[in-house]
Amino acid sequence: MIYLDSAATTQPFLEVVNEVSKLNLELFANSSSIHNFGFQSKKLYEQSKTRVLDLLKLKRDFDILFTSGATEANNLVLKGISEKYKNRGKTILISSIEHPSIKSTAKSLLNLGFLVKEIPVDELGMIKINALESLLTSDVILVSIITINNEMGVIQDFKRISSLIRKYPKIIFHTDATQAIAKEPIDYSLFDLISFSGHKFHSTKGVGALIFRKNISFTPLIEGGAQQNNNRAGTIDVPSIAGMAKALELSLKERDSNLNRIKEFHDYLINELSKIDEVSINSNPKCSNFIINFSLRKHKASVIVEGLSEKQIYVSSISACSSKKENTSEVLLALGKSKADADNSIRVSFSYSTTLDEINIFLSELKRLLVEVKER
Ligand code: PMP
Repeated sequence: MIYLDSAATTQPFLEVVNEVSKLNLELFANSSSIHNFGFQSKKLYEQSKTRVLDLLKLKRDFDILFTSGATEANNLVLKGISEKYKNRGKTILISSIEHPSIKSTAKSLLNLGFLVKEIPVDELGMIKINALESLLTSDVILVSIITINNEMGVIQDFKRISSLIRKYPKIIFHTDATQAIAKEPIDYSLFDLISFSGHKFHSTKGVGALIFRKNISFTPLIEGGAQQNNNRAGTIDVPSIAGMAKALELSLKERDSNLNRIKEFHDYLINELSKIDEVSINSNPKCSNFIINFSLRKHKASVIVEGLSEKQIYVSSISACSSKKENTSEVLLALGKSKADADNSIRVSFSYSTTLDEINIFLSELKRLLVEVKER
């Protein structure tokens, strides 16, 4: 198998799977139980919190709430913050290239009387600074801008963006860092809220987090017991949380050496793809090296992805979360790409285990399919 779809999910590290299994078997106590076994579980939960915040260099002013993943964390941000701070204003700003877990959730707020406005991006996918400036008003409660877009990999200039947002001290600034954590060096202290999923950096699935500044509160999505300081009811999955903390540590340990290798692979693949006549590269220098996005001018991308899949080469035709619904990439449309390009894009995404051999096999199979498969 050649797996080039790590932006969809990654293979968990063996050490992490072993650790989670061991903890499930040996430290299965409920962390809310008031006996010694429960205290041990609670201690591991607290240690995992500190470990994650430490690793992301966020220890002092931030706290962390563990969730089932980024989708839940993003829902909590939009619903929980808007409800809690509705007396401050009614406007919520999101970028036009957010993941569906932000976009769809933001739409649901319209029914509750909030105003949701999209911040446009330029042809590279970068936030239009002038547009952001004119959208910022004292009615804005929350701004949500994705750290690294999941289809294109574009990374925003957050220093500049946050300096504009910080002119309005009451605005809460959120980023969906799902594609960034443990991959690109990002200064997370620029934000008030940060959401992510562990499975994008080799943790097991079903665990993620919302990191929040200690002075921010939100209305919980899930009510019941008093777990996680009343912010999310339900028995805490300490083994998975500890596993995610371990996955983060392991990924970060290798990050800097991996970044150089991934950049070499990225540059090589872009160079080879640009030699193929019908390929139009959507990635640009503002994008992360972990994601390469290109469109096919003559073939249907989904057919080529299927052809690759038959050879056990796995890439995405558009992000997995929306690929069942329709095939047009809203992200590419937001960048001003044509409908044909937005209908026929392919995303190749790397992980630390990607090799040059795998990239070469992908390239030769892609070239073969472009010759053998009927054009659209
Ligand atoms: N945000 C981004 C940027 C993502 O890439 C994803 C996963 N595709 C999510 C949120 C949702 O993550 P999950 O499905 O793990 O909740």
